[in-house]
Amino acid sequence: MTVPSTSRRPVGEHHLGRLAEASFERRGDYPSLLFDGRWHRSGELFERSLRLAAGFTDLGVRPGDRVVVTMANCPEVGIAYQALWRAGAVVTPATFLLPAAELRHVIADSEAGVVISTPEFIPKVREAIAGLGTVRHVICTEDGDDVLALAAVEQAEPEPIVARADDDLAALLYTGGTTGRAKGVMLSHANLHFTGRASHQSAYVPGVNRGLTSLPLSHAYGLLVTLAGLNHPEQTVGVLLRWFDTDAFLAMIAEHRLQQSAVVPTMLQLLLSKPLEEHDLSSLRYLTSGGAPLPPEVQAELSRRLPAVSIRQGYGMTETAALISASPVNHAKPGSVGRPVPGTDLEIRAEDGRPLPAGEIGEICCRSPGVMRGYWRAPETTAEALAGGWMHTGDVGYVDDEGYLFIVDRKKDLIIRGGFNVYPRDVEDALVRHPAVQMAGVVGRSSDRHGEEVVAFVSLAPQANATAEELIQWAREHIGGYKYPRELHLVDAVPLTPVGKIDRKALRSRLAS
Ligand code: AMP
Repeated sequence: MTVPSTSRRPVGEHHLGRLAEASFERRGDYPSLLFDGRWHRSGELFERSLRLAAGFTDLGVRPGDRVVVTMANCPEVGIAYQALWRAGAVVTPATFLLPAAELRHVIADSEAGVVISTPEFIPKVREAIAGLGTVRHVICTEDGDDVLALAAVEQAEPEPIVARADDDLAALLYTGGTTGRAKGVMLSHANLHFTGRASHQSAYVPGVNRGLTSLPLSHAYGLLVTLAGLNHPEQTVGVLLRWFDTDAFLAMIAEHRLQQSAVVPTMLQLLLSKPLEEHDLSSLRYLTSGGAPLPPEVQAELSRRLPAVSIRQGYGMTETAALISASPVNHAKPGSVGRPVPGTDLEIRAEDGRPLPAGEIGEICCRSPGVMRGYWRAPETTAEALAGGWMHTGDVGYVDDEGYLFIVDRKKDLIIRGGFNVYPRDVEDALVRHPAVQMAGVVGRSSDRHGEEVVAFVSLAPQANATAEELIQWAREHIGGYKYPRELHLVDAVPLTPVGKIDRKALRSRLAS
């Protein structure tokens, strides 16, 4: 295959289209990706991205245009990302789990002219764009009524990379919205180039090159995993699942001798309910958990049941291109989210902005080339979040004397009961230690007597039994007088956000109603 020369036009050093091209040039053509029973070669995937990039340009996608990608996992997600960067466009991922109203917000707010999806989500896309004049094309991975087939767009002849400067936008990502309306986070080519590289560097172990991906790729975490992969020097082999499924996850690791996977904590919780010992997981070496707090009990049980697997953690947020810290390879500390990745400065600050010494709890602030350009069309919110050139994460935590970071909770979720600070996670972790408890979510309810009262929502493990009174008593014995929940509701399932964070906003509105 001939790759059209890029030398005619200037391309920023950190252009992600160039990164993808360099990755292919370095590793060459080989069977690299297994999806749905079929192997794809790296050459075929790369060539499709070249054609698709030219196809986007023919459709009228111009440099800087936003294109929404809301797809179930399939090889076309990566192809679309690489094609959009090559065409100079701005990738706007929207997790397929978003309800239509939130998808509509993403499409309207970003003013995307094109939406790319997979067949099962086309009805939702239709509902989301009804009456929005801005969307010109809905592209689908399969033929269908009223959609443009991706295969048709892919017919174009490859073109050189469309030039973009390093500071130009490469992605506009909407934050989870666990606190208010989802905001667009502007990430440049340089931002994503930095975190992709830092993520690779912090996880790289020579010879570990066979991985499983089941995280939604149309999301900040999935985007990061994709970019880290482009930095790998070896011929990596990946198995991609359409979505997470415990049986398929275990079967694929055993069958294809996979060595690592990036996951969110809920996936680990679900895996623990399976007979792990009955599968041949002898190839598995690393599981990296990120995106949400990993309950210490889950980590401990995994280490007990899979002693040869090292459980790492990564911590970050959309605003930092998904990465701030990661557990050093083979030196993970239980409960810690690791150390800042290379190139990242970290400070723990008091309420008044003063930096705090090791061991003291305050707001986590960071500075790195990965930190966003700002929020989309929101200069005031941007100025507040990036005051003094530091990203104010809104997370509360501390650093120990070896430089390991520990997250305590979200600042906004802090409950102040009778003047004492109660971090919901402490209470949730204590409840999850009870053998009958599967998951727990804790929020505050306003109270005349104490200012706020601690309220827990708990789901029980299959076949387990426990009463609300017993669990309240358990919490009281384990975390002491002022912070145990005074009110506890047993529920079928604790609501989770698409990446598996306890959805405390949903819990608060349940309380309010
Ligand atoms: P988002 O921007 O939606 O990815 O959410 C970022 C937030 O998720 C962070 O500010 C943290 O509150 C939380 N988070 C991400 N990774 C971790 C982790 N490893 N441990 C605890 N919380 C995390």
